[in-house]
Amino acid sequence: MANMQMTKTPMPEQDAKERGRNFREVALGYTEEQARNEAARCLNCKTRPCTKGCPVGVHIPEFIERINQGDMEGAYRIISGDNALPAICGRVCPQENQCEKQCVRGIKGEPVGIGRLERYVADWAMAKGMKPQAPEKENGIKVAIIGSGPAGLSCAGALRSRGYSVSIFEALHTAGGVLMYGIPEFRLPKALVQREIDSLREIGVDIETNVVVGKSITLDELMQDEGYSAVFIGSGAGLPRFQGIEGESLCGVYSANEFLTRINLMKAYDFPNHMTPIKVGKRVAVIGGGNVAMDASRCALRVGAEKVYIVYRRGEQEMPARAEEVHHAKEEGIDFRLLTNPTRILGDEKGNVCGMECIEMELSEPDASGRRRPVPKAGSEFILDVETVVVAIGNTPNPLITSTTPGLAAQKWGGIVVEEDTLKTSRDFVYAGGDAVTGAATVILAMGAGKQAADSIDKALSNK
Ligand code: FAD
Ligand code: SF4
Repeated sequence: MANMQMTKTPMPEQDAKERGRNFREVALGYTEEQARNEAARCLNCKTRPCTKGCPVGVHIPEFIERINQGDMEGAYRIISGDNALPAICGRVCPQENQCEKQCVRGIKGEPVGIGRLERYVADWAMAKGMKPQAPEKENGIKVAIIGSGPAGLSCAGALRSRGYSVSIFEALHTAGGVLMYGIPEFRLPKALVQREIDSLREIGVDIETNVVVGKSITLDELMQDEGYSAVFIGSGAGLPRFQGIEGESLCGVYSANEFLTRINLMKAYDFPNHMTPIKVGKRVAVIGGGNVAMDASRCALRVGAEKVYIVYRRGEQEMPARAEEVHHAKEEGIDFRLLTNPTRILGDEKGNVCGMECIEMELSEPDASGRRRPVPKAGSEFILDVETVVVAIGNTPNPLITSTTPGLAAQKWGGIVVEEDTLKTSRDFVYAGGDAVTGAATVILAMGAGKQAADSIDKALSNK
């Protein structure tokens, strides 16, 4: 008999006031008792609508049933058969738009907390030291992977388990992509990402950091001189976009990428233990309404800002950020200035930011994205008193690899062109996936693409 409780079993959290000043994880995870209580809400539906909502098809009712039976190892085996990074996905996947959106318990009441249960099982397995298994046989074929974000890591894991000799080339000094440099510690602890990376190394995946493909070595040199039979490009979308308004080159204006990288990867929040501090004013404006903007605003608060604004040109309903992140940001005291658009950033005589002029907006007819188009209200300009501005209005793929690889086709906006069913690019034995192909998307979609490309590479090399 299912537990007919209408709402999700609450997840313990750090107190909002306290956590707004530290980088420790906000959500604390279920105990076994809480996990089993939540698992008992699942109706074990025959049609498995939740699984259809999962981009990598995790066998959801099956793993939840194992939790119900107290068989956590069995639950882990089921999840990890489809998802190589469950501890990460359980924390950052937008479940409310995927599996949980399809859950029948959501029709009257709240859906089953699938993400929370996935996290519980993955953390349990990690604590027990469960890891992916090394291949039984080596096939001696070398495959190169460019980029160590979720796309590259999942492609590497899937190929290595089939016996390929896999090397990841990563531009930064630390592997993990956005999981390490973008998503903050308080949402995704870095030790956990590091453990996933270490376990790939333990099964024989080679990771070379500080290698910028297109500068240190080209893709053609990897294939022709270094003997790689195939390449997967998972280089992400790390090129920040700006609005193009006056004042964007003033001191105190950061792209969200730079701001988050300095704080997360360079550990600016842990100065002087890490000698790479960041200068942040008392009043900060973050421009944008996505997850990146939420993360930047909450980081600004935690590195000492007294007042942090989110400045977003549409309304809350149109915000692309996860509802949970918006809720957490509000709880922590972030001030949302919605239907507001910056028109210029003001500087003092020394070239430092001393304010931001904004204009109020109103919503008109829906645009191509289906969201109502914001239009400025004439004469409604006002000045926001800030010393730091963080621009979080989106990223596009960096053109370095496409511009140094002859014959590698890309869209005008930078996305690498691939065949949908195989993820093969315009070059033979070169595949691509994740944000480098789709533009900024999600961890699970990048992971799914890495896995799909690994299948295609395996097929192509087996037929060679
Ligand atoms: P990335 O994670 O960007 O990894 C690409 C890697 O390639 C990087 O390490 C980069 O250094 C490396 N690289 C680039 N060029 C080269 C080169 N020439 N040579 C060698 N290496 C190279 N998604 C969610 O699902 N949930 C969230 O809550 C969420 N929050 C986010 C918060 C922030 C701040 C950001 C920025 C993104 C967030 N996302 C979230 C999106 C998600 O992180 C990305 O969609 C995902 O990481 C894309 O994975 P990827 O492997 O394609 O690329
Ligand atoms: Fe369980 Fe919801 Fe999936 Fe039904 S839809 S099997 S209730 S998680």
